[in-house]
Amino acid sequence: MEVLLARENGFCFGVKKAVELTEAAAETGKPVYNLGQVVHNPKISERLAARGVTVIKDPAEAKEGVIVIRAHGVPPETRAKIEAQGLECVDATCSLVLRAQRFTKQLADEGYTVIILGTPEHPEVVGLRGFAPNAIVVETKDEWEKLPRMKKAGVVSQSTQPPWAFKDLVAHVAEIAQETKVFNTVCPVTVKRQHAASELAEQVRTIIVVGGKNSANTRELVNLAKMQGRNAYHIEHADELRPEWLAGETRVGLIGGCSTPMDTLIEVKERAEAIAA
Ligand code: SF4
Repeated sequence: MEVLLARENGFCFGVKKAVELTEAAAETGKPVYNLGQVVHNPKISERLAARGVTVIKDPAEAKEGVIVIRAHGVPPETRAKIEAQGLECVDATCSLVLRAQRFTKQLADEGYTVIILGTPEHPEVVGLRGFAPNAIVVETKDEWEKLPRMKKAGVVSQSTQPPWAFKDLVAHVAEIAQETKVFNTVCPVTVKRQHAASELAEQVRTIIVVGGKNSANTRELVNLAKMQGRNAYHIEHADELRPEWLAGETRVGLIGGCSTPMDTLIEVKERAEAIAA
């Protein structure tokens, strides 16, 4: 059995930067805290924990040392809290998320009702809402069809949302608002990864998607493969691979989310090949 790797795999630049900044902070020997999982991947969390990095939920849990803000960013009040505590802060917010935060604030300052396409409890969305406290978050067509008519609507997106959903939302908002302003903040790296998943789906019946169960961009790859009628299985590591998923297949596809390290993908590939041998 052949295991076909997608043409896009491994860390995106935002995840790479967040992991490297956390590791560099750990090298200093000071206590290092990640405010939430630095990226949504359990293997990376284990690797950082082994270097002494502690995950905390609130800056108040850190009494000394360095706090690293994760790739998803934080609301301004959280940043202010870190500063008020006098702790050293390393900002690993992805540059694309910072851009989305700036646009969200601009829309709110200009008097637009901000509409965010995203998952309300996702940390990136929680961060964005901090820049537009009255923002409305919608995730599904059912939800945005319930939006009231409005005068000025401003639309942004969580970086990992699918581009087709953003397009549909924008088209709907243009119908219900007198004035619409749009900032396309869908991450181009995740779009490329989604294209790679679609290409892979054209070549196989079964796709293994590797990444954190709480990783939004990984879950989107699973959805895409399913929408193309493929068998798609979401796993975090090689041990979860089940022989029955591979039975009767001459080749399967393999793709990872933007926070899945290449070595995890190689482990899954080798395990799949060993099962099929
Ligand atoms: S997926 Fe995109 S927005 Fe998110 S960390 Fe990676 S590059 Fe940045």
